[in-house]
Amino acid sequence: MSAVDEKIGAMVLELREQIPQVECIEGCHDCCGPAPCTHWERERMGAPPDPAQGRDDAQPGSCRWLGPSGCTVYEERPMVCRLYGVVEGLACPHQCRPTKGARLAQGAQARIITRYSLAVFMDQLEHMTCVPGEVQR
Ligand code: SF4
Ligand code: SF4
Repeated sequence: MSAVDEKIGAMVLELREQIPQVECIEGCHDCCGPAPCTHWERERMGAPPDPAQGRDDAQPGSCRWLGPSGCTVYEERPMVCRLYGVVEGLACPHQCRPTKGARLAQGAQARIITRYSLAVFMDQLEHMTCVPGEVQR
């Protein structure tokens, strides 16, 4: 991991602390689809579990880290998984909300999304590849 990746990691860790826990329905995984993430987050998730140990009811496109008992990387799940039920654009289909009741205030939501968007942009710049000859001069 590069110095930029470490900086992204520090930003992600700081944001994680600001996101309240959602009180989910036990065993629910309805919001678990492909979860985009930064390289730093992906590195912390490690290898996905053996597909043979996966869920019997897994749908095509299910997250590869979803195991028979739910998320196998819960402590290291990506930001999008943490924001479900917490921010307005990612409302839980079952109306689950943070444990303490209210969603984050609009200002706090905007700050988290803006800061994470910056982390994603930094991640893309750090890991983008340029194909020689594609740049027009
Ligand atoms: S946020 Fe909602 S949809 Fe996602 S796991 Fe929790 S209860 Fe299920
Ligand atoms: S990382 Fe975990 S919480 Fe996120 S989509 Fe995959 S199984 Fe669900």
